This record gives sequence, C-alpha cells and structure tokens, in this order.
Amino acid sequence: MKTYWLVAVNAPIPQTLTYSSELELRLGSHVVVQLGKSNRNVSAVVIAQTEKPDYETKDILSKQEHPDLSETFLSWLQWVSEYYKHPIGQVMSLAFPGLSKDTKRLSKKKSIIPDIEKLPPPTLSEIQKAVVDNIPLDSFQPHLLFGVTGSGKTEVYMQCFDDCIQQGKQGLFLLPEISLTPQLIYRFAKRFGNELAVIHSQLTDRERTNQWWRIASGEAKILIGARSALFCPIPNLGLIVIDEEHEGSYKQEEKLKYHARDAAIVLAQKTNIPIILGSATPSLETWYNATTGKYKLHKLKERINNVSLPEIYILDLKQNKTDDLPFWMTPVLFEKISDRLEKGEQCALFLNRRGMAPSVVCNQCGAKKDCPNCAVTLTLHSKSHLHCHYCDYHENYKEECSECTVGEMIPLGLGTEKVEEDIGRLFPTARLARADRDEIDKRENMEDLIDDMMNNKIDILIGTQMIAKGLDFPNLSLVAIVLADVGFNIQDFRANERSFQLITQVSGRAGRHQIKGEVILQTYNVEHPVLKFVESASYELFAEQELEFRRELFYPPYSKLACLRLQGLNKAAVINLAEQIRQFLERLVASNPTFEEVRILGPSEAPLSKLRGKFRYQILLKASHASHLSYLIQQLQNQTALQSPGTKVLIDIDPVQMG
Ligand code: ADP
Ligand code: ZN
Repeated sequence: MKTYWLVAVNAPIPQTLTYSSELELRLGSHVVVQLGKSNRNVSAVVIAQTEKPDYETKDILSKQEHPDLSETFLSWLQWVSEYYKHPIGQVMSLAFPGLSKDTKRLSKKKSIIPDIEKLPPPTLSEIQKAVVDNIPLDSFQPHLLFGVTGSGKTEVYMQCFDDCIQQGKQGLFLLPEISLTPQLIYRFAKRFGNELAVIHSQLTDRERTNQWWRIASGEAKILIGARSALFCPIPNLGLIVIDEEHEGSYKQEEKLKYHARDAAIVLAQKTNIPIILGSATPSLETWYNATTGKYKLHKLKERINNVSLPEIYILDLKQNKTDDLPFWMTPVLFEKISDRLEKGEQCALFLNRRGMAPSVVCNQCGAKKDCPNCAVTLTLHSKSHLHCHYCDYHENYKEECSECTVGEMIPLGLGTEKVEEDIGRLFPTARLARADRDEIDKRENMEDLIDDMMNNKIDILIGTQMIAKGLDFPNLSLVAIVLADVGFNIQDFRANERSFQLITQVSGRAGRHQIKGEVILQTYNVEHPVLKFVESASYELFAEQELEFRRELFYPPYSKLACLRLQGLNKAAVINLAEQIRQFLERLVASNPTFEEVRILGPSEAPLSKLRGKFRYQILLKASHASHLSYLIQQLQNQTALQSPGTKVLIDIDPVQMG
C-alpha cells in the first residue's frame, strides 16, 4: 500500500516536499528522491507522514543504508534549520557521511586512532572529584568548567566520559580544529583505546565515513571531533563536552552559519543530558549564564602539581629600543631568549600575522599595493611575491614602484617570516622552526614539528595562532607575544574579549611542567585596559568590566544580534537593496509595539568592504529576544519583492565575525 511522506530534500528549498512510497519508512529515514521535473536524484530525509495530496506525487526511489535518525535528533535538526534560517534538507544532509558503507575489510594502512595500550587514569584530586560528582549524568544541565590551562579540566572530562560509558551510553567531545592535535588524540586513545572515534577536517571521505559508522552503529563510545562532528547522529548520546567553548571557530562562517556550542546546548536539552563547557577564558555569553545561575559553575583554580602560572612581563615597544635590535625586539626579550638558549630551554614567539610584512608602501609616492579583488593590502611573502589572504590572488613582488617608477616598495609592519629572518640573524646557532599556514599545510607537518619540539630539536619556535592552542612542551619556558596590539584596534565589540583570550591562551603554553614559565608581552599600548587584566591573570575582573560595557551598549549577552550581509558585483544595486530592506524592517518594527526595543543599524559598508570582487554591505539587528529577530527575518525572507538576482542576502544569526 502506498503511503505519503513529507521529505526534506538536499537542495536549496525552504519547504518540505510530498512523495509517495511502498517502502517501509519511518520518520528519520534517509532516502533518495528525484527532484521536480529534472531527473536529478537527491538524498532526502523523511520528516512526517501525510495525507495523499490532490496532485500527482513521485515515488521515493530507494531507502539508504543508514539507520533512521531518532525523533530527538530530527527535531534538533529542524531547530537548527529554523533558528539559523537554512534550508531544512541541506541541514539534514549534514547528518550523513559522504560515501556508502565500506563492506570490504578496512585496510590498516594509516590508523586514525593510535593503537596503544590503555593506561589506568591518574587519581583525581579532591577538587576534580568534587566537580565530577557535581555533574550528574541523568538530566539536562549546562555546566561551565572554568579553569586555567593545566588545571586538570581534560582529566575531569575523561572521568565523566568514563562514567557515561559505564552507564552504557556514548559521549561527544568537541574541540576547535586547531586543538585537535595528535597529542590530544593520543591522550584519549590511552584512556579509551578503540572505543574512540575521531572526525576532523583532514580525514578523507572514506576515513570519515568509516568513523561515522563506528559511532552511528554504537561500536565506538566516544566521538572526538571538530565543529561538524556535532551532526553525527549518536544513537545513545549521554554527555557532550565542548572544550575551549569561547573559540570563534565553533561558528561556521559559510553556508549554514551555526554555532556548534549553542546548537550543542539545544541538542543536550532535547536529549535531556548534561553538557560541559570548558575554558580558561569563557565567552562573556557563557560567563553571564554561569554567574546568573542558568549554567552551573565549577572552578578549578590551581594548576595540577602546584605548577605555578607563568610570570607575565609587559614591555613598552616605544621605550625599550636599541639600534642593534629590530624594532620589534626589546632588549629584555633578547636577554631572555639568550638565557634560555644557554640553559638549553625552549622559547616560542607568537605573532598572529604570517608572511614577511602585511603591506608594502612606496617610499617616494606612498602608493600601496591593494588586492584587485578585495579591500585589503597584499601581504609580502619571502620577498618574492605579494599575496591576498582572502582570495588567494598573488603577483610577483617588484621593488620598483609601478606608480611613480622612481620609488621603492618598502615592506611595512611585521609577519612571522620577518621574525624568523631577524631571529636567524640575531641567534645564528639556534635551531628555528616556523609554524604558520604557509609552513604547515598538512597534519603530518604538524606532527613532525611536535616531535621535534618534544625531542629538543628546536630551540625557538615562531608561529601564529597555530601554536597558541592545545600544545604542551615540557621544556618550553619562555613565550613571547611579539606584538600584542594586533587585534586591539579591530572594529568589533568582541575585540577586547578576543585579545584577552588569545593572550591568556598563548601565555598558557609556557612553563606547564617543572621549569618556571615566563611570558613577555610587547606592545605599543601599555595602557590598554585588556593588558591590566592579563597581567594579573584576572579573568573574572575583566569579565565584570567588559560585561558592563556590553550592557551599556546593548550587546550580547544583553541582546541578541542578527547580521544581514548583502553582497554583489554592482555596488549601487547592493546599496539600493540594503536600503529597501532597512525600510521594510523599519516599517515592520514600527507596526508592532512588541518590537519596540529592536534596533536596526545600517546599512553600512562591511568592515571588509569588498571581497572577491563583490561589494559588501550589512545591516545589524539587535533585539532582546531571539524570537523577535527570527520573526522579522522570516517576514523578510517571505518578501519576494526584496530579492534581487545580482545581490545575495546572507543571514547570520548570532554573528561572531562582524565583517
Ligand atoms: P587542562 O585540560 O585544564 O589543561 P589537564 O587535564 O590537561 O588540564 O591537566 C594538566 C596536566 O596535569 C596533564 O599532564 C594531566 O595529565 C595532569 N593531571 C591532571 N589531573 C591529574 C591528576 N589528578 N593527577 C595527576 N596528574 C594530573
Ligand atoms: Zn583578494
């Protein structure tokens, strides 16, 4: 007998479609259907059963091999689609692997989980035990585990996962891609052996598919993954942990613009299980929730084994200058590096800018080299070519200025390559390594680098945020933040928060073991308010002050934001559409007193005003309730009159990158 089903097809259409079938199907079944009049086959998920409609329907072509999604997971996927305003079928498609199941025996060519013997865990400290005891596994509750790097958070997570497995359940551990280091996987493998599955962006489709099946079939108990692992259906989910919950990389910036932490909290709620957020520098949204009682707050104040926090020195680059040293190096830093080299200890220099210099300028006429496609300057790399970090445009670097033909194009500012070059000159016998995206493009390179650091084959490590997170080297005793100012001047209400987090995180790399660590922070802005709190390592005071700003300016956590980003090749058309949208929204807001507190800002040029040849404008909406924003945007999406073929309107709910 034929039955009729609403299905969500993997295509950019917002609504569900009706298909018929004689197959045995259920809600959450993964199927293949033919889309419209085309003969294109697409995958789809069965959402609901329905009545026979009064029009001709097509039959569902086949049922896929995957287990049906649970009702809870289905309902969560629907929430994701509605909340982030993304087509339902495209959201659903994320729950399945790209390839079909491998029926052959898996080749053991390169195993993703290291094959090592399980080791018994350390005995938890009293404080750690108390935290574990205060995280009951039987119902929904968000927990914030607040503790500096090295305070034993990861051991707490592992114990909670262990308890969860003991109860016959599975666990999900999310962390930023950049922290998903071989070291971390190794540590989990030592504890959980082959009960572990791992999903990250460096896996091949085949590997990812295999890992997906291991967890979806219930064989593996713990899934470790970056952001997208959240979409893996885990049949018996009992606990979610989000490490470094403050990380901006939990937000996906293209296509489905979801925030993995926020979406995970909703998944935990729907599944009625606890979720642990961990951080040394929580996002202010999370901190607010934890201090107002919505989340349970657990603190791990001390580092394990009484390892003390590193000493932090803030040095003024304007005053500490000598002619013998490059502009970016204070004599104190030079002394301290020399001292470490003598002692055979390691140093790391951190600068969040790769390349030789972020721009080149003519010393006669002042001409700059901008990217022809984007509103940014080109970065100089290895004195040979100029590169756009946004669109990948590059050209050869010529010293002669192409504008005035007499001047010389001078590198301006600082990048990791330049730091490496200068360090090589100042410390000719030191062994250097650089870790940035130009140097480390594969996981294996990173593994080699880690091995070299561990085996003391590197004296000075120079790197971008690649070295800021997750790494732990026993012999690393000096960390320098070369230019703390990078990031201070960004036009973003979260600029201070990000600076505080990044500096704290980088500092956390130093002296994590027996040797006392030191952190040198060089800056042109010693008076900057963030530095005061960094120096005293007082996150809580920082958060208090920063929350006060947020409240005054009606920013999150005191408001909800949505950003409408318009982009197109024709600038006038983009501005025109943006203006029409603003007027539409203004009328809507004015027509209903519920929306009294809604603010519409802009349209204004996006901070990155041109990208890949497209002009970008944005409208920012602020409201006290997410539901208000959701309603307004829904109304906007229904307005076909406000759609223009040449201009895209991208919707970003709870935006993280403001530009
Ligand atoms: P975090 O996740 O907060 O950075 P970790 O859990 O990684 O902290 O702990 C820091 C270091 O201390 C690690 O090397 C870990 O193995 C060790 N450690 C943590 N808890 C204990 C414990 N109870 N006993 C012994 N060593 C511990
Ligand atoms: Zn570009």
